[in-house]
Amino acid sequence: MTEILVLVDHADGAVRKTTTELLTIARRLGEPSAVFIGSGYANAQATLASYGAKKVYLLEQADLAEYLVAPKAEALAELATRVSPGAVLVTSSPEGKEIAARLAIKLSSGLITDAVDVSAELETTQSVFAGNYTVKARVTQGTPIITVKPNAATPEQAPATPVEEKVEVVLSDAAKAARVVDRSARAATGRPELTEAAIVVSGGRGVGSAENFSVVEALADALGGAVGASRAAVDSGWYPHAYQVGQTGKTVAPQLYLAAGISGAIQHRAGMQTSKTIVVVNKDAEAPIFELADFGVVGDLHAVLPQATEEVQKRKG
Ligand code: FAD
Repeated sequence: MTEILVLVDHADGAVRKTTTELLTIARRLGEPSAVFIGSGYANAQATLASYGAKKVYLLEQADLAEYLVAPKAEALAELATRVSPGAVLVTSSPEGKEIAARLAIKLSSGLITDAVDVSAELETTQSVFAGNYTVKARVTQGTPIITVKPNAATPEQAPATPVEEKVEVVLSDAAKAARVVDRSARAATGRPELTEAAIVVSGGRGVGSAENFSVVEALADALGGAVGASRAAVDSGWYPHAYQVGQTGKTVAPQLYLAAGISGAIQHRAGMQTSKTIVVVNKDAEAPIFELADFGVVGDLHAVLPQATEEVQKRKG
């Protein structure tokens, strides 16, 4: 069976959900092999096994983590040249896309970015122009290298006992041209990561100010969800860009997406329209976002959200 390389996206071994999605997709295409670069493999081992990695290539040498993306691309290229995989799957993050692009050049291979689906025949689907068009594409030269957007697949477990193989690579001087000098984590919010959360509560211009975002956060916390924001809220400086949902922000597909004070512009929809259940709170009954809503409340979010928070807390006891 064809080997499919999946680059593991992780923070010190804490595997991001996107990797479990890639492993799920990889099982459709062939036999998934996880490529683990960096430190903390002990934390990742169980997750990679339970999502069906048949093999794990372990690249734990320190210099791979000391630099930016170039060494990872070089190491992946060396591995891909050796094992001739049927495809290489990488998460569509800024880092993932840079690695994939460098890899494609090194392997003289075709690259497709931001796929939202990959068929067993390696035909990819991209959603473009804010979700108004879908494009089907396939790589016609070399090893298909595909970056896949978060939430492109529902992760499904398929326990395996992966064979672990240690891989050492000799990095070129060129790969060491930019070095990491410091890493500091953003202050922890205690909330789930936006693209991985099962519940997302987002606020838009209707929230009115940075301080008022506390009503959005309170409901998110009561529900155990993440906070999102529209671009209007982000551009107003009320919430950081890392939480923006939409075409130029994150793509989310949670079980429950609650949009409060958001009108439903096409660029916002592009980042949330595949959510399973969409709840809308907007004081304008004509707001276009209601077209997407499974449940809608026409009302002032400053009244509705605190009531909902109180109700959720009451039910939790
Ligand atoms: P508005 O459109 O102003 O809507 C505010 C809503 O709040 C209204 O419907 C109003 O009725 C309601 N409201 C007001 N007060 C209350 C209240 N007290 N209670 C309840 N409801 C209330 N946008 C994104 O979100 N994400 C993106 O990634 C993104 N990318 C873009 C990329 C490009 C290239 C462009 C051109 C635009 C992009 N936009 C994006 C911007 C997008 O077009 C909209 O301008 C933006 O989504 C509007 O944000 P909003 O819905 O919060 O604000």
